[in-house]
Amino acid sequence: MTRYIAAIDQGTTSSRCIVFDHAGAIVSVDQKEHRQIFPRPGWVEHDAEEIWINVQTVVEGALAKLKITAADLAAVGITNQRETTVLWDKATGKPVANAIVWQDTRTDRLVRDLGGAAQGGQGGGQDRFRDLCGLPLATYFAGPKIRWILDNVDGVRARAEAGEVLFGTMDSWLIWNLTGRHVTDVTNASRTMLMNLQTLQWDDTLLSAIGVPRAMLPEIRPSSEVYGEGSSALAGVPVASALGDQQAALFGQTCFSPGEGKNTYGTGSFLLVNTGTTPVHSKNGLLTTVGYKIGDQAAVYALEGSIAVTGSLVQWVRDNLGLISSASEIEALARTVDDNGGCYFVPAFSGLFAPYWRSDARGIIAGLTGYINKGHIARAVLEATAWQTREVVDAMSADSGVALTTLKVDGGMTANELLMQFQADVLGAPVVRPVVPETTCLGAAYAAGLAVGYWPDIESLRANWQKSAEWTPTLPAAERNRHYRKWKKAVQRTMAWLDADDEG
Ligand code: ADP
Repeated sequence: MTRYIAAIDQGTTSSRCIVFDHAGAIVSVDQKEHRQIFPRPGWVEHDAEEIWINVQTVVEGALAKLKITAADLAAVGITNQRETTVLWDKATGKPVANAIVWQDTRTDRLVRDLGGAAQGGQGGGQDRFRDLCGLPLATYFAGPKIRWILDNVDGVRARAEAGEVLFGTMDSWLIWNLTGRHVTDVTNASRTMLMNLQTLQWDDTLLSAIGVPRAMLPEIRPSSEVYGEGSSALAGVPVASALGDQQAALFGQTCFSPGEGKNTYGTGSFLLVNTGTTPVHSKNGLLTTVGYKIGDQAAVYALEGSIAVTGSLVQWVRDNLGLISSASEIEALARTVDDNGGCYFVPAFSGLFAPYWRSDARGIIAGLTGYINKGHIARAVLEATAWQTREVVDAMSADSGVALTTLKVDGGMTANELLMQFQADVLGAPVVRPVVPETTCLGAAYAAGLAVGYWPDIESLRANWQKSAEWTPTLPAAERNRHYRKWKKAVQRTMAWLDADDEG
């Protein structure tokens, strides 16, 4: 049997290639950051060509470090930053503009108009399309980003209508470059606002309301199947999975049964819970999304609480304030003080995502006094992640009627002991981290391995999950509740900051 499976994780800040063995252990890694392009306040772009070059570089790097070639890989899987939107010329393969990243808020007005248009009789507002696609109207999703490019880049709409300009999220862009096929997987498609959650196909009502021509859209395929054979460093290797990064982490954490869930702490944080083969519609500000679809089996759905800014707040403290020189230093800085000194930091940099979905909110540091020093700010920065997670967990419990018993975690911020302990404290529930922290890549590798028979079934994957660390709550409930009230008060102070004449 071929020895290894590779996964490509095309993330928000970097692209990574990880090679796994049959036990699901990491045997090689390579990673490269790409440029974050900020043309205006609220705008965030990536250069899709730079990303494709970086992906090839990290694949070559990961294979070279292990001294193997494509012939040693049974398959490659893809996982990616979701919603980030790229349009390219079908004939030349060149992007028609920079990719618009998921955090970008330039579609704020368009999104408000789409919601407002519904209020004159059709009802709905922000929830106008929720029944069809499971999502609230928000700048986050791909559909309005496509529409923005069609409206603002000369000549693109006519060419898109003729099928000469193609749309894809990063999975699609990479599969196109690797195999020449224009496809996307069902989890990525479920983040566009253009896919019907029941039929798992593009929906004409959504396409015409948002203004996106069908001719430019990829074919929607299962998350785990062979899409084609790779090229260059991956010549001949089956490209056998695609999953949005958060769905991949759900898969990598082996959350295969209804009620099982995980929280990933990266640039943002994303808590997903498997809800089985029927979509559950949220009444508490969560998203309904596709968790995964293996071959011709029924799709599995998930409820998701998405938080826009968590790890990126630590980067902001490093890059914009210069209080630390690396992300990991935030823990030592926070430990210079015993508590937050009454200071709360709500990082509503691109509005608030779950459970509020307020694009008019902007960030705030509340409770400032002459006593507050940089240690308190560092603590407030870390606590912001834990409180935002608590709000999402509360929404999950309200939607499902079931209280959280344990939280499985992964992602870069889980290296932070202070944060993980505080997370257990504010949830009043244990937090557990698996041995393999790279669950996103692992999930993509698992899905690809299933498609080619490298692993026989999902039960064989469950056996690979092992705990590496656990944090149990110690904070008295009364204290937790007092802090939580203050946090909620600070959140209220961020709302309605943008006025009608603000640009975003
Ligand atoms: P992504 O996949 O979204 O790029 P990662 O899972 O690699 O993210 O996590 C990186 C994020 O975690 C960065 O935003 C960084 O600021 C944050 N981070 C990394 N290490 C720490 C740490 N020790 N404490 C707090 N935050 C951290």
